[in-house]
Amino acid sequence: MRTDFDEQWEELAAEVLSGMKEWRLQHPKASLREIEGALDERLGKMRARMLEDAALASAAANLKAAGATEEARCRECGGKLEERAVGVRHLLTQQNQLLELERSYGVCSGCGAGVFPPG
Ligand SMILES: [Zn+2]
Repeated sequence: MRTDFDEQWEELAAEVLSGMKEWRLQHPKASLREIEGALDERLGKMRARMLEDAALASAAANLKAAGATEEARCRECGGKLEERAVGVRHLLTQQNQLLELERSYGVCSGCGAGVFPPG
């Protein structure tokens, strides 16, 4: 499984670091609690993005695995399965960050049957 998390996540982390540094310069008299709040806000966003990226990667891996075991063929007619997106699923994380996960599934080009990946 190939991922390009490294670059995306390094960017995310850099945003947190530079954003926090900037915030600190703009709030030289901030209390510990205020600093903590600003940090949590930024880390929470990074956390949600990382969770989203990682969850999407496993969803994609699921469909590929399902396709591999069934050779991406329809069980009913043997037609070729094509990947389709079925919209976005919204989830709320433990820290109330909204995640958008795209669900995908296979559709038979012959009879139109849908094959959903497990999970
Ligand atoms: Zn079919």
